[in-house]
Amino acid sequence: MTEPAPAVGEGAPPAPPRPRSRIRRGARRVGWFTVAFVAMLAIAAGSMIRFTGNSESDSRGETVVKDVIARANAPRAITPTGLTLPVAGVKLAALTDTWGQSRAGGARTHQGIDIMASGGAPVVAAAAGTIEKVFDSAAGGHTLYVRSPDRRWMYYYAHLAAYAPAVREGAKVAAGQQIAFVGDTGNAGPGNYHLHFGISRMRVGDRWWQGEPLNPYPLLVGSGTAR
Ligand SMILES: [Zn+2]
Repeated sequence: MTEPAPAVGEGAPPAPPRPRSRIRRGARRVGWFTVAFVAMLAIAAGSMIRFTGNSESDSRGETVVKDVIARANAPRAITPTGLTLPVAGVKLAALTDTWGQSRAGGARTHQGIDIMASGGAPVVAAAAGTIEKVFDSAAGGHTLYVRSPDRRWMYYYAHLAAYAPAVREGAKVAAGQQIAFVGDTGNAGPGNYHLHFGISRMRVGDRWWQGEPLNPYPLLVGSGTAR
């Protein structure tokens, strides 16, 4: 029985180690070069990213500053929205724009809207707020001043016949809540039942009689809360 011949090469002396280890050393050297090169690239790329990042955040910061300045310089927001028509039972289509009409023989202009209604009709809050003043005046008769929660708007209700029971200074009202009854007090004229409704833009420190009146008509008509 003869043993099978060893496979070719099995008995051959191992390949001389030098060239192989030289190749390995060479490979290792190439490897280190690669690693070093990649590292350098990474550092370079990293610094570029940092630079890019810095300039980006700089421009972002600049944009934020510009936004803040623009906002500070912009005119204060516009007008109240979503108002409720302040006399229950009156239709939006029945309103007429009486802003700016001559009053007192041209001595002044009308700074509000007159909403014609029957005497005793419910006056409801056009918007939420706090009753800041319950006031009787020769011109307005029984009046109410309701300030918005953000204190930027004053809603003025005049020629009232009477106030709703819960009405007192400091009381909060919800939009649509009844606050009074339509009347003809003040200079409305006997039997000329209507609600005089005004809106004033208020600065932070403005008192109830101050502020800058604006025309309620487009705000009511644009609100879409027809009743
Ligand atoms: Zn009026």
